[in-house]
Amino acid sequence: MKKLLALLMTVVLATTMFTACGSSKSGDDGDKTLIMGTNAEFPPYEYRENNEVIGIDAEIGKAIADKLGMDFKIEDMAFDSIIPAVTSGKADVGLAGMTASEDRKVSVDFSDTYVEAGQVIIVKKGSDIKDASGLAGKTVGVQLGTTGDLYVSDPKNVENVTVQQFPKGADAVEALKTDKIDAVVIDNQPAKKFVENNSDIEILATPLTQESYAIAVAKDNKQLLDAVNKALAELKESGELDSILNKYLANDESAETTTSAQ
Ligand code: GLN
Repeated sequence: MKKLLALLMTVVLATTMFTACGSSKSGDDGDKTLIMGTNAEFPPYEYRENNEVIGIDAEIGKAIADKLGMDFKIEDMAFDSIIPAVTSGKADVGLAGMTASEDRKVSVDFSDTYVEAGQVIIVKKGSDIKDASGLAGKTVGVQLGTTGDLYVSDPKNVENVTVQQFPKGADAVEALKTDKIDAVVIDNQPAKKFVENNSDIEILATPLTQESYAIAVAKDNKQLLDAVNKALAELKESGELDSILNKYLANDESAETTTSAQ
């Protein structure tokens, strides 16, 4: 009888635990690690300093993990590996200045928006390229697999363009500086960082797109998605998100590109 009772209790306990966790994936109980997939080539969102990945997304990821009572780990990978890592469970969240695009929504769910951004054009000063139409017939550098890559590669947007895909935005900028390409199309804030220390290049005034950054979560992990959205809402509400953004976007356009989204 005692044995039977013990067995019963084990079954009940196991069932309760299984229900509570929802799945074996991390993200819903206290003693696990939140793994953030990112590509640390995207300042000020994620980049390396002293061999450590730092930046806006790294801090947001850590703050969310803290709120969920979880440990935190960053996995640095190629940008186009992040979504596969999230869908396969190698990473719990994709946090990489990632645009919540319709294409990506087929494979992953996205959290609420945390920043508004857009693609911009970087050229050498004195270039004859003045806007998107000026890209026609030119060679344009992009970061492989990004929304900038997709935009320039779509003939509906730019005609007769030669797209050169680089694994890192910084490499595209280097190619521009050495006249191997005519322009770079990349997200506005990394563009600022890349141009900051280069007096011979500049960003054209009109952005090409309007995009929203959000956190990617596996489609079967609604529980984690809800938890992430709740944490994000708290970070917005408390002003913590703004202070993270302001820390990295100091004295530029932070005020207009961020905050109060949804
Ligand atoms: N926002 C762009 C995208 O989602 C670029 C992101 C990145 O290079 N980290 O494609």
